[in-house]
Amino acid sequence: MQLIDCPWCGPREEVEFSYGGQAGVAYPADPAALSDEEWASYVFYRDNPKGRFAERWNHAIGCRRWFSAVRDTATYRFEAR
Ligand SMILES: [Zn+2]
Repeated sequence: MQLIDCPWCGPREEVEFSYGGQAGVAYPADPAALSDEEWASYVFYRDNPKGRFAERWNHAIGCRRWFSAVRDTATYRFEAR
């Protein structure tokens, strides 16, 4: 079992967390101006690197707060904050 370090609760077992996707994806400044293709890109397309990746995580069975973390997708290891 891997431990994930919640910024508010400290290290907890990974089963307490839910994945929230790529971090840093900004909501479109003018959503009404987007084409269908641009909306599809915003909603469905994310980076998929092998290696360091900034992600959103939710401590769902704990404080229920969201935070960003950097994880290595090849090893599943979280970087220390
Ligand atoms: Zn927490």
